[in-house]
Amino acid sequence: MMKITVIGGGAAGMTCAILLARAGKSVTILERGERLGKKLSATGNGQGNVTNTHMDASCYFSDDTDKVARILSRFSWQDTVAFLQSMGGIFLPDARGRVYPAGRQASAVTDLMRRELFRLGVQIITNARVSRLEPRHGLRAVWEGGSLSSDAVVLAAGGAAAKNFGTDGTAYALAQAFGHMVTPLSPVLVQLRCDPQTVRGLKGIRMDAGLRVLRCGREVYACRGDVLFTESGVSGDAVFRASSHAEQGDTLWLDFLPDVPQNLLRSAVGEGEDGLLCIVPNGLGRHLFKLAAGNRTRLLSLLKAFPLTVTGTLGFDYAQATRGGIPLAETDEGLQSLYCGGLYFAGEVLNVDGECGGYNLHWAFASAHTVAEELQ
Ligand SMILES: Cc1cc2nc3c(=O)[nH]c(=O)nc-3n(C[C@H](O)[C@H](O)[C@H](O)COP(=O)(O)OP(=O)(O)OC[C@H]3O[C@@H](n4cnc5c(N)ncnc54)[C@H](O)[C@@H]3O)c2cc1C
Repeated sequence: MMKITVIGGGAAGMTCAILLARAGKSVTILERGERLGKKLSATGNGQGNVTNTHMDASCYFSDDTDKVARILSRFSWQDTVAFLQSMGGIFLPDARGRVYPAGRQASAVTDLMRRELFRLGVQIITNARVSRLEPRHGLRAVWEGGSLSSDAVVLAAGGAAAKNFGTDGTAYALAQAFGHMVTPLSPVLVQLRCDPQTVRGLKGIRMDAGLRVLRCGREVYACRGDVLFTESGVSGDAVFRASSHAEQGDTLWLDFLPDVPQNLLRSAVGEGEDGLLCIVPNGLGRHLFKLAAGNRTRLLSLLKAFPLTVTGTLGFDYAQATRGGIPLAETDEGLQSLYCGGLYFAGEVLNVDGECGGYNLHWAFASAHTVAEELQ
């Protein structure tokens, strides 16, 4: 019987192991943490946004978006739902196409997958941080206290984001040892840092705002959603989405009243410090009033286009995903390494990251499915 080792027990690793075990392979998962699916259990603010009904390669960043498109065409959002529901549960889209378990509990998705792995008899070795892969008797994975040889290895060890979930970027070295490169890495789906002067005093204020990203005066991205002011910048759903597109030095323009036209605003905004009562939160109103320094035209313009300069991000520790990784160009159509036969890649370890909204988990499921199909 073909023996396969999966390195990493996250969304991609567990999916690959389940599909391979269902196809009759002997599968072992090696996970550096003490349990599987720790990150999956924390996704979507604990609710588990597993995929999105608006699925398209244009929602992804990669060195080869055509290959991403081909992989997505082999595994649609409905396939993700069908795969998860084959283990139990109900998965439903919300009004924005984001698909969640009906019980809105990400940890329950992990429980479903763990139950299925157990049912299929997949061997799970935890506290096994693989430090070396050797071409011996097939491929041999080595960790402190053990080693395991198998016919194929799937590297599903994630990226460099959120190291408290076991992903600190050190696993890329396992592929680099075979000559793979790692494209430049940066954190995405992350809070943006802004000039501290411009956000001082606004911490805690949350708005449904329009957000535009401008580079050298040209709009590179626009969206609408939650914006939350923090100690060092801005967070919230709209900011996370914008973080996939924004660079240091870009300007964010916030429209605090995206549904209110200028003419209504002109008639509604009163004079004096309390002129913005019931228009924006009081703290923001006072701040804008101060900034405008009594200039009404300036005040009206700040309400519709509040500028913030991006000075950076909060970094990998606070990011949900990694931009960069092992290039798709260094893999074949089945995501097998071009440099080492029998070595496959799935999930965030690859140079693919998706927009906010279930796209990264979908990539984990879809890429794992491609690898599992190739290994059957
Ligand atoms: C807080 C948070 C919320 C998120 N919310 C969403 C969401 O709602 N929707 C969405 O689509 N995406 C979300 N994401 C992103 C998504 O979770 C990841 O893109 C996805 O989990 C990647 O899956 P993966 O299996 O490739 O890697 P991971 O889930 O990161 O799993 C990799 C596993 O490999 C293990 N590992 C690493 N190195 C080694 C080694 N050397 N040996 C053995 N094991 C190793 C790690 O411990 C880890 O368990 C979120 C991320 C975070 C941090």
